[in-house]
Amino acid sequence: MSETVLEVDNVTLAFPISRSLMDVVHRRPGKVVRALNGVSLALQRGETLGVVGESGCGKSTLARSIVRLYPPTSGHVRHHGQDVFGGEAKKDRDYNRRVQMMFQDPFSSLNPRMTTGQILSEALRVHEMRPEAEIPARVAELLDLVRLPQDAAEKLPHEFSGGQRQRIAIARALAVEPEVLIADELVSALDVSVQAQVVNLLLELQDRLGLTILFVAHDLRLVRHVSNRVAVIYLGRIVEIGDSETLFSNPSHPYSQALLSAAPSLDPDDKGQAQHLSGELPSPLNVPPGCAFHQRCRFASARCKSDIPTLRSLPNRGEVACHHAEEISENA
Ligand code: SF4
Repeated sequence: MSETVLEVDNVTLAFPISRSLMDVVHRRPGKVVRALNGVSLALQRGETLGVVGESGCGKSTLARSIVRLYPPTSGHVRHHGQDVFGGEAKKDRDYNRRVQMMFQDPFSSLNPRMTTGQILSEALRVHEMRPEAEIPARVAELLDLVRLPQDAAEKLPHEFSGGQRQRIAIARALAVEPEVLIADELVSALDVSVQAQVVNLLLELQDRLGLTILFVAHDLRLVRHVSNRVAVIYLGRIVEIGDSETLFSNPSHPYSQALLSAAPSLDPDDKGQAQHLSGELPSPLNVPPGCAFHQRCRFASARCKSDIPTLRSLPNRGEVACHHAEEISENA
């Protein structure tokens, strides 16, 4: 039976923007960036849930909110049923250890003046993972785990390639024996061949250590490769969520369909029938009323301009937030 490890429950996140001098003079109200607009999802033990969407759609904000970098304006994030905001200090430390985030640019998260050995030892010490005498042996184990040579312990981050730096970031995350990894565009800055190596290492470690992963990425092929389930996010809302194979082979939401058809195919003979996404992603400062996708949707009706669609299950599909999902699926 599946076990929910993490639950995001109706999370909204709005960042107020300071008013300009002209706003003050003209007594205009302050603006608010609506980064997340009622996101709900549950992460099951041992699964990889991919989160996809265009740049600026809110997927990284969601990841940061889960690791408590951004407290939600409303809604809850729960870890084994416990709200992760407003807990006691001891529980907070435990959550920080059990849910680890890895970023696109390890340069900004790895201290450039510390050797790999020091970086890993520090993580072990902060969370009291091993007695002092056992730390060198554990560092050696961690380097083995991510397939870095033992002499990596003596080197500084700038002495490694991008792929090796991501292995250090993975080793540091694993040092504290987490339950959940949040990978935010983990391999986006790497060459394609290196991406495959790092992602395959991650999958192997997941299998070996029973990790649960939230994999945030804009590269759909990569997400399909790693994910059991996928959530498609548009302007801070999940518009479709479901089993990865079903969603990728038969997307139901017009945005998912356009996003997938615009992605390059792995098959060079596949000429596809690209449904190009028209228009730009609207600003989260000015989220359109009704279905936020209606200005770019070729199926939009009058209802779409006023009523916000909610996620609902479709037979043999996942959950879709679209008023006309049945007709669109039938005609697809
Ligand atoms: Fe398009 Fe309407 Fe569905 Fe939104 S609700 S995706 S505008 S058809």
